[in-house]
Amino acid sequence: MNIFSFNSMVYSEKRACKFLLDFCWKNHQRFCPRCKCREFYRLTDGRRRCKRCLYSFHDFSRRFLNRGAFSCQQWLWFLKFFALEIPLASIATEMDISYATVLKAADTVRRAILAQALDAEKIYAAGIWPGPGNPLPDKKIFDVPVFGIIEVENMAICDLMPNLQAEHLLHYKLNFYLKTASVGQIVYTAPYRHYQALISCGPGLWPMPHIQHKDRRLPIEGTAFWSVTKRRFQQLRGISASHFALYLKEFELRYNAHGQDLFAILAQAMCAFVPRLVLEKRSSVD
Ligand SMILES: [Zn+2]
Repeated sequence: MNIFSFNSMVYSEKRACKFLLDFCWKNHQRFCPRCKCREFYRLTDGRRRCKRCLYSFHDFSRRFLNRGAFSCQQWLWFLKFFALEIPLASIATEMDISYATVLKAADTVRRAILAQALDAEKIYAAGIWPGPGNPLPDKKIFDVPVFGIIEVENMAICDLMPNLQAEHLLHYKLNFYLKTASVGQIVYTAPYRHYQALISCGPGLWPMPHIQHKDRRLPIEGTAFWSVTKRRFQQLRGISASHFALYLKEFELRYNAHGQDLFAILAQAMCAFVPRLVLEKRSSVD
């Protein structure tokens, strides 16, 4: 979306809201976000209450963009800046909001991107928090599971490898001479099976000072995806293992969305419901 269309859309909160609502409710058909029932009644505060399960909801309940206190205009401005890869500190200045608020918004967008991934459920099972409405994972993630990278016809695919852990990667390195290199704490490898590289992040990949990941000229270095993605990881200047999968999925989308309207893709992802992983308690408020 060019800046002229964008400008007319964010001109008023009403227009901004309408743009987002179109992603939320297909053909304006509303339903209960909890039980999918289409029968409800209006409450005096503007919300609706489901006739079947008595859940009270508004248009953005349980969706990613309900996290935080942004107005629709603020979300659209944030998504525009995010799509353009404007540094978060600059976004905070331009929007006149705190850096902490911008960090939280960026985290929410990354979780919305991850929710669209085909392997999202497996990534959640590995301990990544889907978003609001889910209990925070019990244990802190020290080692991210391993991902396999493959690029086919200018499309990059970063697959979670559910049966591989950091120790397997080290085992292949030490016993089968799998070559490894690193960018910060992130370690990537020479080809493995049909993947051009394996990639993971965390202290388990750095068990002893003499184990280094400094092999050069790995085949993945020659791919278009890795040359832009490696630069993006370098610009982060440090990344926690618990956030690695979120960044990897963001960079995968950025690469694959080349030529498409990333802003609209992000807006649509933000309007999706946050996946719920556990049985919920019956409650009429969110
Ligand atoms: Zn319901």
